[in-house]
Amino acid sequence: MVHPEFTLLGDAVWLDLVNSSRGRTPSPPDLLPDLEAYGRWSRAQQLQPDDDTSFTLVRTFREQLTAVAEALHAGIQPPGGAIAAINGQLARSAGSHQLTRVSGGWRLRFAPNRSLQALEAIARSAAATLADPGAIVRRCAGGPCSLFFIDHSPTQSRRWCDAALCGHGATVERRRGLLR
Ligand SMILES: [Zn+2]
Repeated sequence: MVHPEFTLLGDAVWLDLVNSSRGRTPSPPDLLPDLEAYGRWSRAQQLQPDDDTSFTLVRTFREQLTAVAEALHAGIQPPGGAIAAINGQLARSAGSHQLTRVSGGWRLRFAPNRSLQALEAIARSAAATLADPGAIVRRCAGGPCSLFFIDHSPTQSRRWCDAALCGHGATVERRRGLLR
């Protein structure tokens, strides 16, 4: 997904938020320097704008989600404060649990009374990743790149945020190694 202003890998909306302060260069610019930029980012993600949020809240939540991504990459427990912040956002959505028939089986799903606002949707995305044992969060292995992604590959062997942008150099290096 190529966006002129933001890096949207599209693996999970919460990681796209985390990645907005990261990038493929050693000192990437913060792509969300103010609340207006966050508003544009939300629209790019097709999220419903938050009614009442402050830029401080968005920045703090992004830092907490970054700590979650770092912990998942390192295979350690995410900080309790970050989990509490996710739960705090989840608690904002009123709705009910409903049984839904999916592919011949029953699933228990939460149906919100109103469409989710951006921060709630971001929290929902992070919660879904944390609750899914098959969702592997990794930091890109490409040189200076600090972007996080979710490895959904069947063999769990994805190493780069983008194989063409970050993986090419590594492949060339490996080939050189083989040729030597
Ligand atoms: Zn990368």
